[in-house]
Amino acid sequence: MRVGTSRLAAAGTLLLLGRVHAAAPTDETSEAAIKDATAECTSYNYPPVSNAMSSNSFPPLWQPVASVPTSDPGYAKFLAMNASIPPIAPKGTLGAPSNVIDTYPATDPDCWWSSAQCTTPKVAGLKPDISNMPEPNTLGYGFDDGPNCSHNAFYDYLTSKNQKATMYYIGSSVMIWPLQAQRAATDGHEICVHTWSHRSMTAFTNEQAYGELYYTMQAIKLVTGVTPTCWRPPLGDVDDRIRYIAAQLGLETILWKYDAFDWKANDPAIVPPVTPADVQKNYDNLIAAAQSGTFNSAGAIMLTHELNNFTMQTAVDNYDKLAAAFQHIVPVGVGYNKTQPYVETNVTQPNFQQYTSGSRTGTPGSSAGASGGSASGSGTGSAKGGAATGGSAQGGQSAGVVHQASVFAALGLAFVGGALACVL
Ligand SMILES: [Zn+2]
Repeated sequence: MRVGTSRLAAAGTLLLLGRVHAAAPTDETSEAAIKDATAECTSYNYPPVSNAMSSNSFPPLWQPVASVPTSDPGYAKFLAMNASIPPIAPKGTLGAPSNVIDTYPATDPDCWWSSAQCTTPKVAGLKPDISNMPEPNTLGYGFDDGPNCSHNAFYDYLTSKNQKATMYYIGSSVMIWPLQAQRAATDGHEICVHTWSHRSMTAFTNEQAYGELYYTMQAIKLVTGVTPTCWRPPLGDVDDRIRYIAAQLGLETILWKYDAFDWKANDPAIVPPVTPADVQKNYDNLIAAAQSGTFNSAGAIMLTHELNNFTMQTAVDNYDKLAAAFQHIVPVGVGYNKTQPYVETNVTQPNFQQYTSGSRTGTPGSSAGASGGSASGSGTGSAKGGAATGGSAQGGQSAGVVHQASVFAALGLAFVGGALACVL
């Protein structure tokens, strides 16, 4: 059971902020209007989040979820699924799932992606992971590890191209940068779960793994008003036990087959070092593959990140080349005609035909009969505000900022040394 004071401590991180910052955004619109990256990354108070943290409704930020309190509304759902979760033991440690790969059976009994990139579960009833795109010459476009506090230039660029993407958001970052998370919903991007603390999911107990997904879903719901139905495992670390827990939460598992390795660049802790030129070569290889007909039967998904300004700028630098090499660049869900991307049926996104015909936002009524579910069709394509419209950010701080990049740099160090250090 989690000790309540740890949650209070995390809440205090948000509440005991410094003096009011003149440029603190008050809503999604004012946040999205900030052009200076330093100003974007100046913390602000967002009452729906600070209130939720004060009431211990969420785990401590950036800490592995230790447990789900019995008093939590999500505990009953965990209990309901717990007995049926496949009896697969946790693997490795939170920072290094790779430390058991050498002793893992070659038969890959758990469909552990880290071992052999298995995407077809061995447990009956589980859907295969999404790791490519069904439509030929199509790129499933998406970015991990957001919301990044300084993503406005990148999101402005995507808007200028009328390009939507799938954003895999970390729950703790959503709570720290809620207005940045709202921008994804406002801009019509597809939001998926990327866990609460970005640790190795197969190393968690059932309850902890459930909590990592559940609380991230709740964070995104709190901030954007919508509940995702997709997730991507950090490091690609997923097996049939974790897939089952995700599926019980209504989350489709999305992986990849190409990797930009953009997160490794410019990090002195990475040995051997990865240079921007190395990352560009990975992009170039994907572009060359598209040009040579590799994706004439089915499209591709490449792992790329919203992690820092380099990864975002590299995405911008390569967008036109990708657009020339692929016939279509779409959010992953769009490629699968998932017109209802969230639990809430009032937000839709276009199907593949609609998107590639130029309709980039959900159309009211378009979700009827779609694979996404049972939408009755009243979508607006925008989740702006959502459940948190009553909040207004006031105050903030100019010192002691919880800066995502530095937090992640620390996490990145923890991954180095394992065979999976190349995958974030
Ligand atoms: Zn990640």
